[in-house]
Order: sequence, then structure tokens, then C-alpha cells
Amino acid sequence: MRCRVCTSRAAVEVRRHNAAFCRDHFIDHVVRQVERTIHEFDMFDHTDRLVIGVSGGKDSLALWDILHRLGYRCEGIYLDLGIDAYSTESGEYIERFVKERDLILRVVDLQDAYGFTIPQAAESTRRSPCSACGLSKRYILNEEALKGGYDALVMGHNLDDEAATLFSNVLNWSVEYLARQKVVLPASDGLVKKVKPLVRVAERETAAYAVLSGIDYEVEECPMVAGNTVNRMKEWMALLEHRSPGVTQHFLGGFYKVGSFDAAPPVLRSCESCGRPTTGERCAFCRLQELATRS
Ligand code: SF4
Ligand code: ZN
Ligand code: ZN
Repeated sequence: MRCRVCTSRAAVEVRRHNAAFCRDHFIDHVVRQVERTIHEFDMFDHTDRLVIGVSGGKDSLALWDILHRLGYRCEGIYLDLGIDAYSTESGEYIERFVKERDLILRVVDLQDAYGFTIPQAAESTRRSPCSACGLSKRYILNEEALKGGYDALVMGHNLDDEAATLFSNVLNWSVEYLARQKVVLPASDGLVKKVKPLVRVAERETAAYAVLSGIDYEVEECPMVAGNTVNRMKEWMALLEHRSPGVTQHFLGGFYKVGSFDAAPPVLRSCESCGRPTTGERCAFCRLQELATRS
């Protein structure tokens, strides 16, 4: 296999683009995919102050690295979920990454700041750990981005993540979720603008980008991942992609082009406890926190 650009020996094959690249041209290719997505969806520009939610995994670190290369002003937030050694190690990978590039990182410890960990929340609420975790991440990253006065919160969801979520939303005909599944979610009262610049890059490509760029990331899977529904959808999408390279991108890209689901926006009020937007009297995060901290 030869690089599509310089014809030297290829390091990575991208089957859905029917192309292969050497190390340098693969890195260029990924950076250009992200840049194109930022411009196409008018996500932000170089005057904006951005913050990225980082987990220590390949996607968020690769994306932060790309934004840094492209000269965007982007800081990071790491939420320590209290998942034993996994959270400690993830935090260490991020600290090394930040040090090497002289970047700014905010760290929030879920236990210190909110009085519980994800394993405790899962146990006391009898919800799946991923559901308590997703809710906590959404709430706290938004809080931190608002507190820091950032123009946008950047999320490291890749093509496979987004396609799997779409697949799940379509299988369940979750019209409200489909209406909210956007690459750019504009800011509204109490909610920061959210953007996903990695949606054109597949998971194995972010992994290859990280390895070829010398980014050291947490390769271990979270020990609480069992039962994660998005992962199950990803496995199914991977089977389809294997048979028909490009189908994942076609599915997601087509949704962005034509799939507008205009569910009536929910009527929001302020949470009695924290003041953030919610449909009920108290928001889901405050209810989760109450259950998880009840001794
Ligand atoms: Fe959270 Fe589930 Fe991901 Fe673990 S696998 S970090 S519990 S969402
Ligand atoms: Zn090349
Ligand atoms: Zn609340």
C-alpha cells in the first residue's frame, strides 16, 4: 500500500475513503477533516475561548492536540469520576499531555465537589453506571464551562460514537433525542454552546492519529462499561461498516443533511435546587446527587 499523496509506504489505510496515507499525510488528513467540520458547521473561530471535556482516552486527547495544532485557544476539563485506578490513571495521562504542551487544565473531583462517585451513584440509584455517569458529565461540564465563561464546550465524540447514538435513537424512534442530536447545540439560558468537531473521524482513525502523534492515552476500558448501550450499537454498526465501508459516514452525514426532527422543545423551568434548566421541579442531576449522597 502506498500513500495517496506522496506514494511512499503507507502507515494507515482508510477503507471508507478508499485511500492510504503515510504517517505525516495521515496526520494532515485527520487535521483537515476536523478543520473542515469546524468551518462547515461554523463552530467557532480563533477569537473564541474554548474548553474541551477530556477523559484521558484517545478521542478527547487527539482532538485537543488537533485544536492546539490549528492554533485555537482551548483549555481542558477533567472530571474525576472516582472509578478507582481507572480514574487515577486517566488523570495521570491527561496531566502528562498537558505538561508536554503547556496547556491549561481544570480538574473537578466528583467526590470532593458533589459528594459521590460513579460506583456509589450506580449502587444507590440502581441505575446503570453509564447512565449516572453520562448525566453527571453533561451537568458538570456545562457548569464548569459556564463558570469559566467559555464561548463553547468541545466534545470528543467521534464518527462511530455519533452514528451509534443515531442508530439507537432511530431504533427507538426517540424523536426528542433525534431533535437534539446536533453537531452544534447553540447556547441557551443556563446551557453553554456545545460542539463536536470530531464527527468526521472514525474511532480507529483517532487511535491511529494518537499513536502516530505520540499521544499516550488510557487504553484500558472503563471497568464499569458492561451494559453500555452505545457500545452495543457500535458493535452492530461495525459489522455493517465491515461489509460496506463508508456506510457509517453515509448514515450520519445523511442525517445531518436531511434529518431534521422538529420535536416541540420541552418547556423548561429553573431547578429548585441548583437553578439550571429542567422540565420538572428539580433537575435529574440534583435528584441523582441526593440519592447518591444519602447515607
Ligand atoms: Fe462512565 Fe460508562 Fe464511560 Fe465508564 S463506561 S466512563 S461509567 S460512561
Ligand atoms: Zn505521504
Ligand atoms: Zn438541579
